Amino acid sequence: MVMNHFSGDNLTDPNWRTAEIIFTGNELLKGNVLNTNSQWMAKTLTSIGIEVKRMVVIEDDIETIAEALRESLRRKPDFIFTSGGLGPTYDDVTLEGVAKALGRQLEINSAAEKMVQDRYKLAEKAGLLKVKDSEKHMTKMASLPSGASPLANPVGAAPGVLIEQGKTTLISLPGVPAELKAIFNYSIIPWIKPLLGSAFHAERTVLVTGVAESRLAPVIVDTMSKIPGTWMKSCVLGSGKSEICISTTASSESEANRRVDEGYKIIVEKAKELGGIVNAINEESK
Ligand code: ATP
Repeated sequence: MVMNHFSGDNLTDPNWRTAEIIFTGNELLKGNVLNTNSQWMAKTLTSIGIEVKRMVVIEDDIETIAEALRESLRRKPDFIFTSGGLGPTYDDVTLEGVAKALGRQLEINSAAEKMVQDRYKLAEKAGLLKVKDSEKHMTKMASLPSGASPLANPVGAAPGVLIEQGKTTLISLPGVPAELKAIFNYSIIPWIKPLLGSAFHAERTVLVTGVAESRLAPVIVDTMSKIPGTWMKSCVLGSGKSEICISTTASSESEANRRVDEGYKIIVEKAKELGGIVNAINEESK
């Protein structure tokens, strides 16, 4: 894989907001569960013009979570997302870690309490549980760090949690992928999009056969320098094939498309000059 030699500054546009993501889960660290939330979050945030600067996976441990958050807050990203550990079980300690990092108390949030109660009543109607036996679990999921706002969870019991801390907005999401996606799409997208102003992401991918990656590398670096704000990287696929992905985020759709189209054209020309066979394998513009 060829990475460009530019610093992140090459890509930074004043319209871009930044994010860091902290995934919690011993099952992720042990390899029992594949961290599919990381790819989904990275793709989704990138597609709406938020630049993901860092992702980490850590244990379900209060002090570890608090320390990861403190570290992340020191870098002052616009958003910090956490994924996992909002449920009712003993190892769901994310909000305790968040409260510790921010020096806030966990307290019953009445809006969260209503959301949790409504979900448990539905589950009771479906014969899945008895509300009166679930008080402890319900109280746990309705206890948020002081000053937090709950985010409705359309498919599960634990609400997401949003906290403003200085310049950073901290958003905690459940680990269950369907719940994470539902809260993101239902509660976060409508709120976050107007904050972001205009940010359009575009991607094009070229498949080159018959040219060694080492010969493509200088072409990629040179092309990136000609189109500021554009990121290109190649991945070797084996059997003399390389995939070159061209992507950018710009403040207008036409500018984003112009950049990837120009990059695409140059890469295709140069790869052909080097004797390569070229195919477009995937085109995407969001
Ligand atoms: P729950 O209410 O189910 O306890 P939660 O928010 O506490 O939800 P976790 O307990 O951390 O979430 O994870 C629940 C399940 O979701 C895990 O067992 C795992 O199967 C899945 N999961 C957690 N994190 C991820 C992830 N990053 N990618 C994919 N699946 C995940």
